[in-house]
Amino acid sequence: MSYQVRCDSCDFDQELAGWVEASSAARKHEAEYGSHWVSIHDLQIA
Ligand SMILES: [Zn+2]
Repeated sequence: MSYQVRCDSCDFDQELAGWVEASSAARKHEAEYGSHWVSIHDLQIA
């Protein structure tokens, strides 16, 4: 399972192998851009 971290307000888009890394990247981006909302999506690998 990997996770896609995606920002609703800009082109920020990152794929990470673990939930901890993904939520960490999301928090970091939101801290850097206070008005941006980052969502994390599960990526199902067939
Ligand atoms: Zn952003």
